[in-house]
Amino acid sequence: MHINQQCIGCRQCWPVCPVGAIGAAADGHHSEVNLDRCVECSACLRSRVCPVNAFEPQELPWPRSLRSAFSDVLSPHKSTGVLGRGTEEMKTNDVTGRLRAGFVNVAVELGRPGISASFEDVQTVTRALARLDVEFQKENPVTSLFTNDRNGDLNPEVLGERVLSALVEFEIPVSRVPELVEALEEAGKTVDTVFSAALAEPIRPGESEPELIQILEENGIFYRPNGKTNVGLGKPFLPVEAAS
Ligand code: SF4
Ligand code: SF4
Repeated sequence: MHINQQCIGCRQCWPVCPVGAIGAAADGHHSEVNLDRCVECSACLRSRVCPVNAFEPQELPWPRSLRSAFSDVLSPHKSTGVLGRGTEEMKTNDVTGRLRAGFVNVAVELGRPGISASFEDVQTVTRALARLDVEFQKENPVTSLFTNDRNGDLNPEVLGERVLSALVEFEIPVSRVPELVEALEEAGKTVDTVFSAALAEPIRPGESEPELIQILEENGIFYRPNGKTNVGLGKPFLPVEAAS
């Protein structure tokens, strides 16, 4: 994003930027965008807060275009065709059928408004996960950036790019969750951002609670239980008589 010379330095746009990328220009009269920090989310432009329309979106060449794809909610990802973070996510399981019995689906979300994340940070996490031999979700834009999904290496061209947040998705057998938590705690010591991990496991017929809960409790792993029921149009995984 660029601010043109019409800027009158009123600073009304400063609080709108989710990563604090707008500041005073060296001349003291205008504002400017710190391009290293800017994640190309277009919030400044769309807020229409500028009284003189000084925001000018720029043509974004590769790999800078990734910033917009991951951070601008109206920008679809080329790899998946999905807006926002570019994945249907496991909460859509009624339609996508991502969850398999005996496995947990995991979404590690790096970055947040206020801090963002670089793909260098993302790679730190994907490398740690690859050492556990996890199965990365194919319909995910981070997965599309791998040069090698066996060691978690991302395309070196993208490592310097920053995004508001990115989701790394994969599945792992339930029994290996303690190893996973240990690996994520280790990776958390070296990344320059924040991340959280969401885990989901389907309850099998006859079970009263997921095996995941037992494993977390037996290993003293802190968790916050959460439930999500999607009330939508798609029910392709229900038998016909149940869906009618
Ligand atoms: S495009 Fe987004 S990150 Fe960049 S200056 Fe505007 S609000 Fe900030
Ligand atoms: S709102 Fe517009 S005029 Fe005011 S500082 Fe921002 S870019 Fe400049």
